[in-house]
Amino acid sequence: MHELGLCDAMLKMIRGIMEEEAIEEVQRITIEVGSLSGVVPAYMEDCWEAVTDGTELEGSEFVVETVQGTAQCMDCDAVFPADVDHLKCPECGGQRLTPLSGRDLTLKEILVS
Ligand SMILES: [Zn+2]
Repeated sequence: MHELGLCDAMLKMIRGIMEEEAIEEVQRITIEVGSLSGVVPAYMEDCWEAVTDGTELEGSEFVVETVQGTAQCMDCDAVFPADVDHLKCPECGGQRLTPLSGRDLTLKEILVS
């Protein structure tokens, strides 16, 4: 599963930050997921529980925020909000699209307790 690898990478990154900043306990982690990234927030939460099981981050609150992505139609140049389930131009119905934003997964905030 795609999300499991992402959570694993996220865990490594957060541990790196904890070490650098001498953080002992994390209360809440917030990540932002673009609507065109293909990441399913609910899977992300499940995978986070799995990868943090038995670690110092077990039980930390994990918040996944979805950011609306945008795409541009290659046929009529319209720019519109898009997510992976609705990849169609609202203006002309075209399906040749260029994603402009919303493909990223970023660590937004680490709340230290
Ligand atoms: Zn179009």
